[in-house]
Amino acid sequence: MTKDHQPGTRGSAIVVGASLAGLMSALTLSRIGLRVTMLERSTRKVRTGAALPVSDGLLERLTGRRSPDGKDILPSGGQAWADVHAGLSSAAQADPGISLRSPVRVTDVGQDERSAWVVTDDGEFVRADLVVGADGHASVVRRHIAPEAPDATFSGYVIWLGLVDEREIRSRPWPSDLAILYKQDYCLNAYYLPGADGSLAQGKRRIGWGWYDSSRNDLLRARGAVIDDVVQRTLRAADVPGTTFDELADEAQEIWPSPWREAIVDCIRRRAVIGTPIGEYLPHRLASGRVCLVGDAAHLPSPMTGSGFDASAQDALTLAEALGGNGNRGSISGALRRYEAARLDPARQLVRSGRHFSNSFAPRGAAQ
Ligand SMILES: Cc1cc2nc3c(=O)[nH]c(=O)nc-3n(C[C@H](O)[C@H](O)[C@H](O)COP(=O)(O)OP(=O)(O)OC[C@H]3O[C@@H](n4cnc5c(N)ncnc54)[C@H](O)[C@@H]3O)c2cc1C
Repeated sequence: MTKDHQPGTRGSAIVVGASLAGLMSALTLSRIGLRVTMLERSTRKVRTGAALPVSDGLLERLTGRRSPDGKDILPSGGQAWADVHAGLSSAAQADPGISLRSPVRVTDVGQDERSAWVVTDDGEFVRADLVVGADGHASVVRRHIAPEAPDATFSGYVIWLGLVDEREIRSRPWPSDLAILYKQDYCLNAYYLPGADGSLAQGKRRIGWGWYDSSRNDLLRARGAVIDDVVQRTLRAADVPGTTFDELADEAQEIWPSPWREAIVDCIRRRAVIGTPIGEYLPHRLASGRVCLVGDAAHLPSPMTGSGFDASAQDALTLAEALGGNGNRGSISGALRRYEAARLDPARQLVRSGRHFSNSFAPRGAAQ
């Protein structure tokens, strides 16, 4: 397979945010011949413990080509967040149609009939034919598209996340790759992931876990991770008091079965745990003129759906299709309307399905 078009022959795009949705959109837009500039505010990448379902042949569908040496840099199956990010980053770096500028924080977005632009925190205007907001749960681009409803709403719970090499855990393995367990007011998702070398052999894998906890919202507010009803940031280990870690370790010993409890206690002992407050966003719009949204900026479901990554991949593929993947050359705003028409309903269904979980798990805190 080859590229559909030469890089930059079909115009230009700015992608705000170079995480998973941004990288996938940059790859599909470059494939149809757009010159893509990615702007990313952060140089740090961590999403300890989260596992993402990578569908078969995803990278080939995003880029339109096979890896030249046949090496699969984005294997299918449940993969660690960091490995998915590394695979997509290396594909984007190898693509001459994509350039990345980081750290650059976008503070504003605008457009007229001929172009769209972003303003950066040092006052620079960066202009292109279209702007794609892939800037996550607290999207700045969403303020431009939906000024009347710009914020995701805090769902009333945090997920503690950790990742550990299976060889560190002596207990007998769990009989299946995934466990979803409910105990007291908690829910635990725990799973085996390939080892750092890709191995799926017993003893050589990694264990990831996500512990849903609706009982520590005071801590989230005290640390400024949630202000009013809006999620501000993830708690790093340094933000979490030792007493909270001690409580979590004691509770893990008491309520979760092996090998998950040992995995959790190991991560807590190493302080290799983060706490992500969960927000949800039900979209009414995905595009306006020359500006559109993809990924968590567009639709933020509870991670309990396990589908945010796949929805982001669908956004990237559908966006390129609407913009002319089949040689279809209409106006940009018309293409973005087609993109919205194709993606809005599935995105709303996804967010609603997550709300069923949130409403039962944290009835007083969940978004209405
Ligand atoms: C705890 C957790 C567990 C999850 N588990 C799963 C799962 O099991 N299965 C699944 O499918 N999905 C899961 N997801 C969701 C999945 O990770 C996301 O849907 C997917 O990665 C897409 O994220 P994104 O790239 O849109 O947003 P993000 O990963 O939030 O990336 C946004 C990027 O934009 C950058 N940015 C933000 N603002 C600006 C700005 N103003 N200027 C420049 N750059 C900016 C940020 O630095 C960041 O790099 C989970 C998410 C979380 C939080």
